[in-house]
Amino acid sequence: MDEFESIREEVQNCRKCTLCETRHNVVFGEGNRHAPIMCIGEGPGYYEDMRGRPFVGKSGELLDKIFAACGFSRQTHIFIGNIVKCRPPENRDPKPEEREACIPYLYRQIELINPKIIILLGATALKGLIDPNARITQLRGQWLDWKGKLVMPTYHPSALLRNPGLKRDAWNDFKKVIDKYREIVDPSHYCKYH
Ligand code: SF4
Repeated sequence: MDEFESIREEVQNCRKCTLCETRHNVVFGEGNRHAPIMCIGEGPGYYEDMRGRPFVGKSGELLDKIFAACGFSRQTHIFIGNIVKCRPPENRDPKPEEREACIPYLYRQIELINPKIIILLGATALKGLIDPNARITQLRGQWLDWKGKLVMPTYHPSALLRNPGLKRDAWNDFKKVIDKYREIVDPSHYCKYH
């Protein structure tokens, strides 16, 4: 078993925080394990918990539309995961101790996948990876650095569903990702809308 699969096995059996007591399924993450882009959200919601897959509810549908508009697909360009791999009850924010318990798995996934670009979806992802005091409203749309990797924070798709007025800002953030992808990964990347 390679390292990637051994992480998968560890998380399937993980009981490092109390979220293990209420989960139905661990959500390891999915996509291309050599993806140039990693997308990181907050944690599984109801549908993700029931199916064991990331971003499969309404937020996931919107995210897939955004990926498609960018000319990206989950299977080819992206690996998608979360800060915590088990659903917080009632979709509450993960607690700091839950983030701290879970994030070493994400660090190992990032190291193995070795993406060129990391997209952080929402405040919890930003706080979890960059700084617990960071604010998404202040940092979204700006390129950040995490251990030499380019990081673009933007709004979580659930925020876009709650407040469609944020969609324009989010699309501007994704256009920066498209530009950077063309600059450092594939100059011929085709995108109908940008
Ligand atoms: S959320 Fe992470 S640390 Fe907590 S039980 Fe699940 S896999 Fe383990």
